[in-house]
Amino acid sequence: MKRRALISVADKSGALELGQTLVALGWEILSSSGTAKMFRDAGVPVVEVSDLTKFPHILGGRVKTLHPLVFGGILARRDLEADVKDMQDHGIAGIDMVAVNLYPFEKTARSGAVLDALIENIDIGGVALIRAAAKNYRYVAVMTDPADYAPVLEELKAEGDVTLETRRRLALRAFDATARYDATIGDGLRRELGEKPGEDSVTLSLVRTQELRYGENPHQRAGVYLPPLADSPVTQLAGKELSYNNLLDLDAAMRATAMLQSDVGAVVIKHTTPCGMAIGKTVAEAYDRAFACDSLSAFGGVVGVTRHIDLETAGAISKHFTEVLLCPSIDDAALKLLTEKRKNLRVMTWKGGRVFDKQMVSTWCGLLMQDDELAPLPDQKKGHWIGAPRPDLWDDLVLAWKVAAVSKSNAVAMVKDGEAVGIGMGFCSRVFAVEFAARQAGERGQGAVMASDAFFPFPDGVEKAAAAGIAAIIQPGGSVRDEEVAARAQELGVSMFISGHRTFRH
Ligand code: 5GP
Repeated sequence: MKRRALISVADKSGALELGQTLVALGWEILSSSGTAKMFRDAGVPVVEVSDLTKFPHILGGRVKTLHPLVFGGILARRDLEADVKDMQDHGIAGIDMVAVNLYPFEKTARSGAVLDALIENIDIGGVALIRAAAKNYRYVAVMTDPADYAPVLEELKAEGDVTLETRRRLALRAFDATARYDATIGDGLRRELGEKPGEDSVTLSLVRTQELRYGENPHQRAGVYLPPLADSPVTQLAGKELSYNNLLDLDAAMRATAMLQSDVGAVVIKHTTPCGMAIGKTVAEAYDRAFACDSLSAFGGVVGVTRHIDLETAGAISKHFTEVLLCPSIDDAALKLLTEKRKNLRVMTWKGGRVFDKQMVSTWCGLLMQDDELAPLPDQKKGHWIGAPRPDLWDDLVLAWKVAAVSKSNAVAMVKDGEAVGIGMGFCSRVFAVEFAARQAGERGQGAVMASDAFFPFPDGVEKAAAAGIAAIIQPGGSVRDEEVAARAQELGVSMFISGHRTFRH
């Protein structure tokens, strides 16, 4: 008996050659209306599905191939007696190959189409055909991508059949294709209805949009995954491809510059945490001050700035080795200078915006997801002072609080005159974080302020800060020893503002 292929494709590229070759190899072609017309017009013999089923395409094409004569032919197990009997009883002939690609939902969504157009581009029968053929891969070959045609035809010519191994591989690809298709529909409709990825849905659909050269270390494979219709919010203007570690540090730079948004500010990120952060009258000044906090660690860092980069700023940045530069925009001349002096520097622009409103961390117990907030700013009306209020130091306290909020816990940040002078972060004890920050600040700790990302469990951290010359501290409070800590701060003449808001970053 003649072998039969069902070809029903929205993207018709390569389909004519596929049909011609199959016919030359003695196959019979079965097609839906548009695909059948293409074959007829080219003189390729084809049986239209509606002629087989004696049922026309209805509902403007919503129902074309959904019929037992079609699905029976795909799903029947050829060596199962009961299935063979069903085929005979109902006059069903086997379909041995299915080539289907789906209505272009993604293209329609990306073109900014409205809901009605999105809905009409949700393929129904095509997905069912693919799933049926993939489920019955033991007997049926399924092709979902025009790139599959040539190798499958080659095999057919060489082996006389599509091998089981190929059918299995094609089936797995097919389930990937339908999963991606449904994920894209979910993403598109969610956007249209104003819902964010990960919100309110119990499944999370991601597609790999980029393969990275390697992961955190050269032997680890890695990639970037996005919701199907999402685009990266950053644009690369120059430099090598971003690495896995660059992307992690870029995220930290985006968070830090977002925190600094109301100021002309700059940050230097190392190992996902700031090693310098400052504001200034110009971007160049803010950068120089951020760099000065820990100029040793700043080597090879990721720099973020909150304002346009001009030639002067580019001159300042080009003096040091930087891996990635993040800015809202940059002069042509500034970009030229930077790329001439620093060939590998990756220059990224970012106008704001992010892919997820949820933060995800993969653990050995599963993917954890939480609201990804940019911590709200401390408010003198919401919190309260212990000891003499220091409104004169408020701006520095707020900056210190911003630095601590984007630093790894346990974090404390010391700030003086709009510039971080000591950042203790990533320590397992808060008192060690204070000691480190105080050592970094040195003389500059005199009269500086300090922020802590969480409460002081004991008075020791406050004592170390006072010894370093800290005049005021901002912290969330909430410890069982809050009173003891507050009393000690008052004894030592350190003013303290209780913000009521913790900003851990584990
Ligand atoms: P054609 O251009 O051949 O008329 O249509 C091809 C497209 O129709 C393919 O993208 C295929 O996935 C889709 N398709 C096939 N059968 C059905 C069906 O019964 N319902 C819907 N909505 N789409 C179908």
